[in-house]
Amino acid sequence: MPFVGKSGEHEPLGRIPWSMPLDLQTFHWSHLWKTLRARVPDDVYHAGQAITGADVLDERTVGVRTADGDDAEFDLLIFADGAQSLGRRLLFPDVQLLYRGYALWRGLLPETSIDDTAPIDSTVPRISHRHQPGDTVMYFIPGRDGSIEPGSRLCNWASYVPLREESIPRFMTDSSGRQREGMIPPGSMRLDEEQRLKQMALDNLPQWYANVIARTENTYAHLIYTVDVPSYYKGRMCLIGDAGAVIQPFTGSGIFKGYNNVRSLIDALQDQGSVDRALRQWDAMQVVIGRRLLALGEQMEQAFIWNPIDLSTADEKATREWWQSSVRFPEDFNLQRR
Ligand SMILES: Cc1cc2nc3c(=O)[nH]c(=O)nc-3n(C[C@H](O)[C@H](O)[C@H](O)COP(=O)(O)OP(=O)(O)OC[C@H]3O[C@@H](n4cnc5c(N)ncnc54)[C@H](O)[C@@H]3O)c2cc1C
Repeated sequence: MPFVGKSGEHEPLGRIPWSMPLDLQTFHWSHLWKTLRARVPDDVYHAGQAITGADVLDERTVGVRTADGDDAEFDLLIFADGAQSLGRRLLFPDVQLLYRGYALWRGLLPETSIDDTAPIDSTVPRISHRHQPGDTVMYFIPGRDGSIEPGSRLCNWASYVPLREESIPRFMTDSSGRQREGMIPPGSMRLDEEQRLKQMALDNLPQWYANVIARTENTYAHLIYTVDVPSYYKGRMCLIGDAGAVIQPFTGSGIFKGYNNVRSLIDALQDQGSVDRALRQWDAMQVVIGRRLLALGEQMEQAFIWNPIDLSTADEKATREWWQSSVRFPEDFNLQRR
């Protein structure tokens, strides 16, 4: 992972004081989703049916209400309903999402639109913003059909840009004048906002990277929130993935955490024989994992957004020391309980 800074002498690729060894495997989200979805029989997958409420009926039964009035009863209700989880609100009404003070502005550019792909061919550059807080990351992901053949990949880039809370209403107003919640989807960002951000990239990133961003159409943005939960279950209702803790995207851990929540719940249910015992045992570890990831996310946002080093002038030693003192990953990070 090269650390890249804009410097007049090193245009168009920027200056790289240090590259950190990194072993990274990327996936295209929709390909991953389709592959998993294909394993779920259609007759148990009720697409488009919103859950509107849930009630504890007794110690071992939960009732579920759906938007079209189909009520049902279950032994265990697992909420995997994302960052705005209804399940989390029902279990822990006082727990609130915490805005982190920045947005993630993103885009996908087909490989065929890039003349020379060398800077991102087999690595993931981390590019600092010269005159302001924030940073950009850029890497190839498989094409929409999952192909990793050169020529068929997509360049995925993401810029972390500070955004004051009072600027959110304007930022989140889309091209039709509608106020969006949390995310502006591809094709809906106001052109003047997209232009402003592209200009920020042209002014503060090395030219090659700025050009990739400037050429991308239909960019989109997320506001970044986190949340910590005191527990992953109450009675016979539990939380999975972003319905539990929501972690800063720096860690790239969302899918991994969701998968681990499910995998370890299955293991606990198989090991314990009793649902209540299994939930108790499973819960303790999920809280620990969520908090470790949140702590790692905090270290990363401090390093990349709020206290970056000046990569246009720093030497190799200073850059390595800055990174190692700011982010104790991967050496100190372990998903297993110590
Ligand atoms: C900007 C950004 C970048 C990220 N980058 C990465 C990354 O690189 N790698 C990574 O691993 N993670 C990343 N994440 C995190 C990742 O996207 C999430 O952790 C992951 O999607 C969580 O999966 P989930 O299934 O828990 O929730 P979601 O993917 O949010 O799915 C929740 C589902 O529940 C449905 N739902 C919601 N409410 C109801 C209801 N009442 N009734 C019925 N259905 C409902 C929704 O429609 C949705 O289909 C990123 C997140 C953000 C915001």
